[in-house]
Amino acid sequence: MSDRDERNLVMLGPPGAGKGTQAARLGERLSVPHISTGDILREAVANGTELGRQAKGYMDAGELVPDELVIAIARERIAREDCAPGFVLDGFPRTVPQAEALGATMRELGRKPLRVINLQVSEDEIIRRLSTRRTCRGCGGIYSVDDGDTGDPCPNPDCEGELYQRSDDQPEAIAERLRAYANQTQPLIDYYGERGLLVNVPGEGAPDQIAEAVFRAARA
Ligand code: AMP
Repeated sequence: MSDRDERNLVMLGPPGAGKGTQAARLGERLSVPHISTGDILREAVANGTELGRQAKGYMDAGELVPDELVIAIARERIAREDCAPGFVLDGFPRTVPQAEALGATMRELGRKPLRVINLQVSEDEIIRRLSTRRTCRGCGGIYSVDDGDTGDPCPNPDCEGELYQRSDDQPEAIAERLRAYANQTQPLIDYYGERGLLVNVPGEGAPDQIAEAVFRAARA
């Protein structure tokens, strides 16, 4: 892949906008790594590492983990060889200082400019999606249940694992995550908009149609 084809993408949007799903699909379609700081942190918590120990309390409360921790994670990950053709960042940056650190890293590494895809979803829809979201312990798939926990197994016929609700998808944590988004992450829309790097994509509707719009935005 030539330099011109380098695709350095950031997926922005409120919690529950479908960033994870769409970033994974986009990464696969462009053959570049999908990098989710939330996934990296959850894995660190599950493995009981030092990073996980430091991050767990913030995550359970729905608060943002301190900038210096996530900036170090993102820097190290982007500098790896497999990111040379590009990457899709999901859940990073989430604050203006993180965006500034990312810009500095990209310059240090001599990388092409970012393109930032902003998935737009209304607040009512976000609350509905987050409170019905379940993750499978078996295959890691993300599913939506009808209101309340039905206790059904994973709908993937090859898996049928146990579905669980992320601790930060409980109502109090959802409220805190939406506050953190409004106060700390929404300013990034202006930050990237002013720099001419932002593309807005409607995030409501059929997932396949959204994926197509995201793909077009990534290549435009
Ligand atoms: P996510 O899976 O992206 O919703 O992230 C889950 C949680 O991980 C967030 O609520 C934060 O506590 C933490 N987290 C993930 N990415 C970041 C980030 N860029 N900055 C601060 N905290 C983060």
